[in-house]
Amino acid sequence: MPEGDSVWKAARSLRAQLVGRTVSRSNFRVPQLATADLSGRQVTAFDSYGKHLLTRFSGDLTLHTHFEMDGAWQVVGPGKALPRSFEDEIRLVLATDGPTAYALRMPVLKLLVTGDEASVVGHLGPDLLGPGWDEDEAVRRLSCSPGRPLIEALLDQRNLAGIGNLWAVETCFLRGHSPWTPVGEVDLRATVQLVRRMMRHSLDHPGQVTTGDTRRGRTHWVYGRAERPCRRCGTPVAFRDSVPNEHYARETWWCDRCQPGPAPSLSERPPRPGLRRGVDEESFGSRTRRLRGGTGLARG
Ligand SMILES: [Zn+2]
Repeated sequence: MPEGDSVWKAARSLRAQLVGRTVSRSNFRVPQLATADLSGRQVTAFDSYGKHLLTRFSGDLTLHTHFEMDGAWQVVGPGKALPRSFEDEIRLVLATDGPTAYALRMPVLKLLVTGDEASVVGHLGPDLLGPGWDEDEAVRRLSCSPGRPLIEALLDQRNLAGIGNLWAVETCFLRGHSPWTPVGEVDLRATVQLVRRMMRHSLDHPGQVTTGDTRRGRTHWVYGRAERPCRRCGTPVAFRDSVPNEHYARETWWCDRCQPGPAPSLSERPPRPGLRRGVDEESFGSRTRRLRGGTGLARG
């Protein structure tokens, strides 16, 4: 799932290629927007808020997109088009007097009056990467439920916006807390500062690196490393699978020794010995389809 920094980078790239362009043709391939037509409007802005992307057009119109698990934008140069193999994945074609942008597999596509943007992002906490970042407010919101597990509180976008599972899991490791430590027992300010520092660093560096080591397979401490030795102490990294219908119970990795605190019982973990479970760090991101000659955007 793309995290806030991926969406921020997508906004930066789309902005550079499309702001100021005039839409020559739009084609929404989602039923609720099938008749919408953006042609003639100028693209005026791309702004991210957490994991949401707001594309603004002249005439007070905003397109709200959310990538959820698998959405992406692709841009191709003037006069070019995506290969036919992408046809089934296209949800929006946005042709301009310059490049053409495509929203692919995008689960959330909504048009609204720009003045009503609060209706889609107003419920979110402070945006870690936004110009209006408010650390005090994020800490205040996190503190409101002192018994809540740390990982769940970090993933709840109403507390602060932009953190996805990768940053949440790695932050718990780096702060030395089990992911299920009650937030009331955590130095929340230091935690928030750490995750923001890592995400901001990611904006100008490829990949999402938490170890400082960009070599393949070495970029994360515990994320995607079930059963492999902890990089700090050698203990096999523990893994708990996601829980269906429990939004915040995502795939979770942690080191029992480096991260003391509450943890799921052994019966909730995959049986050992067994197959390595969860994301394989070596192949992390390999599901992303790369487009030769195009501008691949925003996959986390
Ligand atoms: Zn360890």
